[in-house]
Amino acid sequence: MAENEPGQPPVSDDGTAPSYDLPAPASALAIGAHPDDVEFGCGGVLAKWAAAGCVIHHLVCTDGSKGTWDVNADLPSLIAQRRREQREAARRLGGERAGEVRFLDRVDGELDSDLATRSEVARVIRELRPEIVLGHDPWKRYRLHPDHRHAGFLACDGIVAARDPHFFPEHELQHHRPSMLLLWEADAPDHVEDVSAVVDRKLDALEAHESQFESTMKAVDDDELEAFRARVRQRLADLGRPHGLAAAEVFKLVDRL
Ligand SMILES: [Zn+2]
Repeated sequence: MAENEPGQPPVSDDGTAPSYDLPAPASALAIGAHPDDVEFGCGGVLAKWAAAGCVIHHLVCTDGSKGTWDVNADLPSLIAQRRREQREAARRLGGERAGEVRFLDRVDGELDSDLATRSEVARVIRELRPEIVLGHDPWKRYRLHPDHRHAGFLACDGIVAARDPHFFPEHELQHHRPSMLLLWEADAPDHVEDVSAVVDRKLDALEAHESQFESTMKAVDDDELEAFRARVRQRLADLGRPHGLAAAEVFKLVDRL
């Protein structure tokens, strides 16, 4: 589920100059709380990088089992559907450069950034060895959903554990230091990625999450689906406009890892 779908503030409210358009890395790992969070948060930049040869990996922390308004939903089949949808979304974003889609399978709504879960995230980082990691900004003010907070802390804390050789030696894996971390839904965004050429690909990937049409996208018929597309396009356009871009995704860039 996506929090704050509309209305992210433009970059550089504080007057500092943002950075723009990183070179496409060799590999990237996006860590989301729920199936669909990665597509909302950074689907554009992942699609852009994949087209430039970057392998894109997903790590989804929860099983998405709260993602329905149907009180009689068959939850095991919802969980299975959401895994299929996430794999399809990753394929749509990455094409031939789609990498792995990993699931931590925590219960939706009950994610914790405890030591055991941090170890699992660090293990995935050490196994996949991404050049750039992307995740939720855990310091986003007034963020209500606990899974988004915890997933953000897991991305940050997982990097620290993955990069330092004496954390979790039981992994018996080489430590790995990513070069950068990009946080979406950022409290203080300072980095802009031009996604003008990949808006349709981001939408296509979002629409792989068919189980979320009713609850998250408010799109139960063709007209409402078109309205959802228009909202996403508008938001990306609003983020790009202060920077002279037709569409943008914005992030907090952390490059001292
Ligand atoms: Zn979510």
